[in-house]
Amino acid sequence: MKSRWNETDARDAVERYARAGVAEDLALRTYSARLLGADPSLVLHGGGNTSVKTTAVDLFGEPVDVLCVKGSGWDLATIEPPGHPAVRLTPLRRLRDLDRLSDEDMVNAQRQNLMNPSAPNPSVETLLHAFIPEKFIDHTHALAVLALADQPDAEALIAAVYGDRVACVPYVMPGFDLARRAAEIWESHVALEGLVLINHGIFSFGATARQSYERMIDLVSLAEARLAPVARPPAQAARPAAPADEVLPLLRGVLSQVAGDRWPSHWILDHRADETVMALANDPRLADWAGRGVATPDHVIRTKARPLVLPAPSGDLRAWRGTAVAAVSAFIADYEAYFRRNAARFPTGKTQLDPLPRVIVAPGFGLAGVGRSAPDAAVTADVAQSWAATVLAAESVGRFTPVGEADTFDMEYWSLEQAKLGKSAERRLERHVVVVTGGGGSIGAAAARAFAAEGAQVAVLDLDAAAALAVARGLGRAAFGLGCDVTDPTAVELAFAAVNARWGGVDIVVSNAGTATAGAMVSLSDDQLRSSFDINFFAHQTVARAAVRVFRAQGMGGALLFNVSKQALNPGPDFGAYGTSKAALLALMRQYALEHGADGVRVNAINPDRIRSGLLSETMIAARSASRGVDAATYMAGNLLGEEVTAEDVAQVMVFAAMMRRTTGAVITVDGGNVAAMVR
Ligand SMILES: [Zn+2]
Repeated sequence: MKSRWNETDARDAVERYARAGVAEDLALRTYSARLLGADPSLVLHGGGNTSVKTTAVDLFGEPVDVLCVKGSGWDLATIEPPGHPAVRLTPLRRLRDLDRLSDEDMVNAQRQNLMNPSAPNPSVETLLHAFIPEKFIDHTHALAVLALADQPDAEALIAAVYGDRVACVPYVMPGFDLARRAAEIWESHVALEGLVLINHGIFSFGATARQSYERMIDLVSLAEARLAPVARPPAQAARPAAPADEVLPLLRGVLSQVAGDRWPSHWILDHRADETVMALANDPRLADWAGRGVATPDHVIRTKARPLVLPAPSGDLRAWRGTAVAAVSAFIADYEAYFRRNAARFPTGKTQLDPLPRVIVAPGFGLAGVGRSAPDAAVTADVAQSWAATVLAAESVGRFTPVGEADTFDMEYWSLEQAKLGKSAERRLERHVVVVTGGGGSIGAAAARAFAAEGAQVAVLDLDAAAALAVARGLGRAAFGLGCDVTDPTAVELAFAAVNARWGGVDIVVSNAGTATAGAMVSLSDDQLRSSFDINFFAHQTVARAAVRVFRAQGMGGALLFNVSKQALNPGPDFGAYGTSKAALLALMRQYALEHGADGVRVNAINPDRIRSGLLSETMIAARSASRGVDAATYMAGNLLGEEVTAEDVAQVMVFAAMMRRTTGAVITVDGGNVAAMVR
């Protein structure tokens, strides 16, 4: 592992932060914390913490000794100066005189001594940073160190690698007791560069930011060197598994089936199959390893204490699905027994979390992170990958022996750990995957935005790949854009496979892409009419067929929405190519509703009219309003409500239609009211 310290960048950071009134100590603390955060083999997703002891000035202009320590909710990779809130150091240190300190009192004491009372809660490891009188302190869960610290003879291994440069701290849960124990060990040694916390991670110290950071890199490098000479056993080839885009919807359906009404039924999956993951998944010792536990207790809130192991998904996938249902049920029974066993130790009781697995591993397949959203599933998959790498490294030098069940449970059910997950309320379509065709156009883009605003993961498909990408970029981390010609069945199959591979399946499909061809029927060429049917009818059939295939594989129902048009019910002159193909589409909607009601698939048509879009351009609006002798605004508001209907209005109706649990085969009109287009 190489040091990323760059003196020019460090000086730049000092100057840049100085302009915002940040002192040099905190500027350098921020700079080197970000260097740690930049390496996922050191810390992941909010893991690790860092501090500096410095001086602040109070309201009277008097200097105060403070500890600037990582605040909860900040990630080292992106931390800024406010991410290290200043806490008065003297009262923190006095806490060491107490015999006992409850978690509540510890949190309160930390908050009471914040210089800025609106700052985030200081890290759960704040007291350790306070009790050890080193100026800069860096803490990571470095993978290479964990491979040595998760061993039955960890202390001997650590001593052999580091000599007297570091001392070991036996496992104690973070908080007051660990802080006291670590400080005692620090005091009983001279000139320590760091501490290795058995089953947990590593601390390094320094008089300067650079010294503390470079000691961390140096210490981790020594651990890497201890691991490197041991050749990793070659991964055994598993039986060839079915493609992940076919396996994932089955897995998603299995989770939903077992969850039933008791637990959340919809989950997003994030599949990983890199070399390390496959070496773990294909190893005959997988089941044994999976039962041992997490690499560092901090990870339990993401992955639970162990992953679910399934057999390789190959051969008869229906039989495999049955095996998977039994395995998830057994996992839940085990988790509930684990909960009862351990919760019994707490006189005040604990409330059981949902017992579903968060990581699923199978030979030939790799692993899947399970989450309530795409970013959540990705964090879990990242942590699981790091667990896989730690297990393989630990097994290459000895036996992976992490912290035991009781300590893992205490961490999983520690209120200060659960607080890290945040308490944000779930939005209505979180856990759901939506595909929107024609997503680059005005109604499609509005639909993509409306579904994303409800928390859904949204795949934006459009013939114009650049337009699809641009819309997806505006939706954040739970969206992606893909060029897709919906008149090409292969392209549609590939697009659905890509969505399955990305998120595990599909719940809602908005079949929206369309085009309007003008011309009287007698003057239309057959080619013009056929091409209108290609896009306005056959492409919808191709999309619906692909959607239903995924819906049936999952067995979780689904929602299919077709954008028909006023023309399907109320033809307009010179729009026969459009109207006849949309009328056929309306019949297609009814046919799918009829044939897939038993699969729980709801199929409905949205009937918008007179929406500013690629199909109704400003030029067309000008021509039509002129021919009616009215201005454009009057023309656009020419409906019973007298208000223009926008793409956003249509998108809202699509969202509602997708959530109408007992409605199928319906035409839902969004045109402001038009008697001639009313369904009869
Ligand atoms: Zn830690």
